[in-house]
Parts: sequence; C-alpha cells; structure tokens
Amino acid sequence: MSILVVGSIALDTINTQKASNKQLLGGSASHAAVAASFFSKVNLVGILGKDFPKRHLKLFNDRGINTEGLEIAPGKTFRWECQYEEDMNKRQTLSTDLGVFADFSPELPKTYIDTQYVLLANIAPALQLQVLDQVKKPRLVVADTMDLWLNTALPDLKKLLKKVDVFVLNDGEAMQLTGEDNVISAAKKTHKFGPKQVIVKKGEHGSILSGPDGLFIAPAFPLLKVVDPTGAGDSFAGAMVGYLAGTKGGIRNNLKKSVVYGSVVASFCCEGFGMKKTVATSSADIQKRFNLLKKSAQF
Ligand code: AMP
Repeated sequence: MSILVVGSIALDTINTQKASNKQLLGGSASHAAVAASFFSKVNLVGILGKDFPKRHLKLFNDRGINTEGLEIAPGKTFRWECQYEEDMNKRQTLSTDLGVFADFSPELPKTYIDTQYVLLANIAPALQLQVLDQVKKPRLVVADTMDLWLNTALPDLKKLLKKVDVFVLNDGEAMQLTGEDNVISAAKKTHKFGPKQVIVKKGEHGSILSGPDGLFIAPAFPLLKVVDPTGAGDSFAGAMVGYLAGTKGGIRNNLKKSVVYGSVVASFCCEGFGMKKTVATSSADIQKRFNLLKKSAQF
C-alpha cells in the first residue's frame, strides 16, 4: 500500500554548537517521506521553487517516492534556519523564508486520490484540511502539528482534528492544547478533540500512545550521541505510517510496533545533519535496532 504525505519541502540551515550546515534537504514532508520509504511507497505532495536541487528529487525517486504531486513554482524553495543550544532539546528558529510556500494551494494528482493511508505532516492546518478533503476514502488519517499552529491557527486545527484518527504531537504541545500540566492527562484530554489515538512524543524519553487499548509507553532508542535532531518527529510519523501501510494484519494490531519503528527511524535521523544518516541507513540496520529496543523494554 502507498501512503500520501503532505508537508513542507525545505532547504534547512542548521547550526549546532559544533557545526553549521547550509541548505540541507529538509522540511516535514521530506523527512516523513524518506522515513516512510523504508516500509512502503509514498505519494508526496508539496511545493518547491525552481532553485530546488535536482539531486534531491532524484533521491526521492530512487527511494520509491512518487513526486508527481510536487509543484515546481517560479520563486524560491521554503527555507528555514535554526540554532541548537548545548542541550540539543532546545533550539531557536533563526529565520523562516516561505518563498513559494506562501502561495501553496495543494491539488492532488488523480493518481493520488485513492491513497488509503494519509500522513498530514506539519504545515498549516488549513492546508492539511485542503489535502485531506481531496482524498476519496482514507482508511487511516494521521496528523502532526507544531506550536506555531496552536498559537496562530487553533480553530483550523480543531476542525482538522475532528477528521483525524491518529494525532501526533509533542508533550509541550499536548499540554498547551489541553491546558493540562501532566503529560498523561494531556494525552487523555486530547481525545476530546476527535482523534481515537493520540501519540505524545517526549524526545529522548520516548513516546506515549493513548487509545482504546489503553496506554503504551514506547522507549526512545538510547543514543550516545545526537548530531542533529531536526526532523526526528517527522521521521517518527513517517516511519510509523509507512510501517502500517506496508504491513498486513490490521492497523490496530500493528500500532504499537509502528510506534517503535517510528522511534528507531527517528534515532537514525538524530545521528546526522539533516537526513544524511537516515538515507545511509538500511532496512537491516532498522530491524537490528528494533530488536535491541524490544529486548531492552521486556521484563
Ligand atoms: P522537527 O525537527 O520535527 O520540528 O522538524 C523540522 C523541519 O520542519 C525542518 O526540516 C523545517 O524545514 C520544517 N519546518 C520548520 N518550520 C516550519 C513551518 N512553519 N511549516 C512547515 N515546516 C516547517
């Protein structure tokens, strides 16, 4: 099965305390699509400028990512720059240059509208809604978000959440959305907005899946060194939905495993700038970490 991924396609400049890397392939949809491509085919939706390097499009295509839904518009590709503190959990956005993204009005190619698994990666909720409304009969709708939309587009986000099956957000966002000061209560209260399944990400401390089967506490893969965590959340969501689309046995039965595969792919993402490490990773590397994580969480 294929998954549809919509979100940002970006050229990121990432500054850590140790190094700076300019104009890396980034964006929520790029990270999510590459992560999903380990498990399933991907129909990618997004916009890019004429300056977008051809080698990135080749990378997508080489990984079975369909780029028919990418609009190439006159103007510049979305650019984003951030600075990480010594504590890599803390970062500041230095600049966001929307470029062609400012006029993005996604229209799905006909070949995409029957896609059953939909991942609405982080972009404005109005755009996520616009894409979702064009998909004929989705079997699973997963959405991610960021604090910016909680602050500037809450009514749209609430409208979207009524149509979402699995909502992925981080601990701070869940607390902001619900007004709760405890992550578990925040996860539980998030269901009231619509999603049956809620996944709260807690960075290096793993994630919590809350749903009709109760709580599942998924560990993060214990890394000795983080190089650049940019896109880890997007990789998590991409791998999760990709795994569900690429695996037989039903969504509910495979959900916990999909969350663990999400953690594993996110861990590779953190080990290199942009998606350098992710693209150098093999399915065997992923399976090895999955098995290690499974063993370390059993008692
Ligand atoms: P994450 O580290 O999971 O928060 O994702 C970082 C990615 O999100 C980067 O590759 C950015 O290009 C992208 N990004 C940053 N700001 C935005 C925004 N306002 N809308 C969409 N994508 C964004």
